[in-house]
Amino acid sequence: MAKIIISKANFYHNLNQIALKTGSKEKVAIVLKDNAYGHGLELMARLASEFGLTEAVVRNQPEAESIRHYFTQILVLGDKAVADEQCSYTLNSLYDIEVAQTGARVELKVDTGMHRNGIAMDELDEALERIDQKGLELFGVMTHFRSADEMGSELFWQRKRFEKVKEKVRSAGFTKVRFHSHNSAAILRANSFEEDLVRVGIAAYGYNELPEAFETVPLKPVMKLTASRVATRKLKKGERVGYGGDFTAPHAMTVSTYDLGYGDGWCRGNTFAPFVTAESLPILGRVSMDFISLESEKDEIVVFNDAQDAARQLGTISYEVMTALSKDIERVVV
Ligand SMILES: *Cc1c(COP(=O)(O)O)cnc(C)c1O
Repeated sequence: MAKIIISKANFYHNLNQIALKTGSKEKVAIVLKDNAYGHGLELMARLASEFGLTEAVVRNQPEAESIRHYFTQILVLGDKAVADEQCSYTLNSLYDIEVAQTGARVELKVDTGMHRNGIAMDELDEALERIDQKGLELFGVMTHFRSADEMGSELFWQRKRFEKVKEKVRSAGFTKVRFHSHNSAAILRANSFEEDLVRVGIAAYGYNELPEAFETVPLKPVMKLTASRVATRKLKKGERVGYGGDFTAPHAMTVSTYDLGYGDGWCRGNTFAPFVTAESLPILGRVSMDFISLESEKDEIVVFNDAQDAARQLGTISYEVMTALSKDIERVVV
């Protein structure tokens, strides 16, 4: 069976690095959306909780339900706000305030420049007023940076805008509100940290998407992908492999089929610029729904040790490679 091997030691190493940046574990919220970036929602929730984290971030209510017992507080990014003693809900628009259930604990997202979600800066007063009128508990105010992972001044002016937001919120009388804006890239490049929380995703799983010019902390990949041998055969020179016969054996060789394919969320890629596994084996011919072929007789092969290396070959980013992997692949902790 194809397997995702999760390194607990590497996960804890990364969480430690982040906690050093924030000054405490209490300020680290682990982002577990999208099946914990493909690592397995419940598994990573359990490990994070055993590490000592008390805060988590998920996408929706069903995700929150399945990890509820591991955390004291869960921030839901994209679902309707309801009264729940353990969850807070992101308000992305004035409309979200309207449909929120009275008594819900909410965190207002302010658009400081990403222009994706969140209320506009000039809607802030109105939003605060409506939150109050509606009887919602304003628990937090947050923003998201659009280019924390790039050089340039954008992060700087987005941060300045968020400082203005904080002032406004405080002077409107909301004194117990928590503020947070940092994702992985922002906390990795920060020299000091004064907010109440970071929402850390990709860095916890071992990747730093910052350009090399930034000096940052060393992180270790948490996930490794392996596949198992299904069948082996000897090919004569000139025999072809897989759909369309895109690969032709240049000489006599032994090839095996392994149990991973695009049905498992593995990228089908380009047959003529094949993916090369962690053990330097190029995929031979087309990726099938459930199988790949390699020149190997090993019972188990390592597809990748490092999702960022894999992503580079596939022309994408580590996030996409990992989140695409099927929930049905077995996750094993080492
Ligand atoms: C996904 C997400 C994060 C985490 O981002 P990373 O770059 O993976 O650390 C933080 N905040 C919000 C609002 C998000 O949607």
